[in-house]
Amino acid sequence: MKTHNSFNPEDIFTADEPSLLLVISAPSGAGKSTICRRLLKRNPRLVFSVSTTTRPPRNHETEGVDYHFVDEQNFKQMIADDAFLEWARVHEEYYGTSRKAVLEELHRAKDVMLDIDVQGGEQIRKLYPDAVMIFIVPPDMDELERRLRARNTESEVEINRRLGNARMELKEIYNYDFVVVNDSVDEAVKAIESIRQAEKLRLPRIKEGLPDL
Ligand code: ADP
Ligand code: 5GP
Repeated sequence: MKTHNSFNPEDIFTADEPSLLLVISAPSGAGKSTICRRLLKRNPRLVFSVSTTTRPPRNHETEGVDYHFVDEQNFKQMIADDAFLEWARVHEEYYGTSRKAVLEELHRAKDVMLDIDVQGGEQIRKLYPDAVMIFIVPPDMDELERRLRARNTESEVEINRRLGNARMELKEIYNYDFVVVNDSVDEAVKAIESIRQAEKLRLPRIKEGLPDL
């Protein structure tokens, strides 16, 4: 297998099986992490891109599983080193997707799931137009607030910042291919599995694997 120092979207189609890059975005509290965790448990060929962030870890979060936690100086060094496929400042912190990790997984014929914000989604869309872009929404704004508070991981200031940002993020919904309402987690997970399955059957993706009819 070739080694890849820079991102060339076409390279993905040189792998034995085409892989999907799934971008999942949502306003904070909509249930994205809950859904992603469930999807990963049920789908062994699906891997999670562990982002790097300057945000402090929450109580239940584990380094290298939920995020790579770094300070701002380290994050800026990683930007200078071109370590990120995309990065953005979200809720006053830095978040970025590891270029190397994503490319390695795609070349191992894994589908890679990116839990990133709308700014990151826009960057990935430009870099890789074949990415499957999914936006998760809560049933309504009151429920979003209720979930953010029930999670009990942010201060009042931070909750209000996230609710304010949610309105701006929702305006970016038209950059996405699919919208999934997270009313029931089970149904939302099933919807995303259906999207993944259908995307794998798109003719341009399976051009190498057609039966000899
Ligand atoms: P996000 O990653 O989008 O910020 P989380 O996955 O942390 O959101 O979910 C926010 C809170 O809402 C968590 O406490 C989670 O258990 C809860 N939650 C997620 N999905 C649902 C749902 N469908 N119904 C009720 N509560 C939910
Ligand atoms: P949280 O702090 O709640 O884990 O995440 C806050 C926001 O940052 C969420 O919208 C999440 O999707 C986004 N995020 C997480 N990792 C990345 C990343 O690598 N890049 C970008 N652009 N956003 C990210």
